[in-house]
Amino acid sequence: MQNHSKAAPKTTPSKVYVKRLRDWSDDQQINETVLSAWQCLEPTLDFIDKNSFTAIKLTFGEEDTSGYIKPVWLAGILNSLKQKTENIFIVETNTLYREKRSNAVGHLHVANSHGYSLDKIGIPVIIADGLRGRDGQTISIRGDHFENVKIARGICESDNMICISHVTGHMQSGFAGALKNLGMGCASRQGKLLQHSGTLPEIIIDKCAGCGACMSVCPANAIGIKKKKAILVNERCIGCGECTVACRTGAIDIKYDENVVKFQEKMVEYALGVKKALSSKIAYLNFLETVTKNCDCMSKNETPIAPDIGIICGTDPVAVDKASMDLIGIDKFKEQFPDIDLLIQIKHAEKIKLGTGQYELLEI
Ligand code: SF4
Ligand code: SF4
Repeated sequence: MQNHSKAAPKTTPSKVYVKRLRDWSDDQQINETVLSAWQCLEPTLDFIDKNSFTAIKLTFGEEDTSGYIKPVWLAGILNSLKQKTENIFIVETNTLYREKRSNAVGHLHVANSHGYSLDKIGIPVIIADGLRGRDGQTISIRGDHFENVKIARGICESDNMICISHVTGHMQSGFAGALKNLGMGCASRQGKLLQHSGTLPEIIIDKCAGCGACMSVCPANAIGIKKKKAILVNERCIGCGECTVACRTGAIDIKYDENVVKFQEKMVEYALGVKKALSSKIAYLNFLETVTKNCDCMSKNETPIAPDIGIICGTDPVAVDKASMDLIGIDKFKEQFPDIDLLIQIKHAEKIKLGTGQYELLEI
């Protein structure tokens, strides 16, 4: 008997390039490595012309960390882009938690102190969601969690983007790469809030010393101290996770249940919104060096959890992130966050057709 059932359509793997670099001590060598990776991407960048407003999306890191992408490493890329358009700029959005980068003034001070300023790199820095993170634009996506998403206006108004991500672990998504840089990193404050809502911490009373450190970092006044123990007001909590980092006795934990699943899914739905806003005119470079447990939003330096690998690049953020996970080793992230399945972000990104986790790895 003939079988009339339809075979699942075959997915074409996305091309992902890797340029390996083990020793990250020589800036000149790093710059050359980044440039080699960039040259593989260049033929795909025909969407950049002399009139383009081209955003280079990256993060400057928190004030007291050295775990961020150094501007000197990008000199070759910036020179190459300057030949294509005069309208290039570094773009970032304000943080949800209340550190210096939660408003454009403090944010530009941090950027400047880390070498990102017009006088040092020859291109301006723009905080895309305005002074206080309120300047967003609504983009329709029709996802499972969101009908539409709130993306920073300065990003929506760009013509195209180079998304440069320092790959690390992350306390809520297990892994932070291109998808997180797009999804969380390009959202307005409201968009960031909507992604975080639903992930609540839990206070383990027996471990609580009543020091109040969690209360002082909480951006939402969601923690109080009663009878020398921390108490959480769930309705106020925005799920930013700051208190878990501040607590030195391990008395605060994020509930790693379906909320963490939702967090990753929401994050990639926001990433889809950015891709739609820019009509897919985005290229991605992931830096696989100093891969730490937590992202560069931590105000401290951390010991790497894996050896340095090099630069991964491509035009599909899902493939670029999946290749980054595989090259570093998914187990390295699982050791840090045993209860988080970091492949959720890849699977949901495939489901909503943001890209594919199947890739062809090409060594440069
Ligand atoms: S309680 Fe913790 S997770 Fe909730 S808003 Fe405050 S710092 Fe953030
Ligand atoms: S930081 Fe930790 S130990 Fe201190 S009050 Fe908060 S939960 Fe308790």
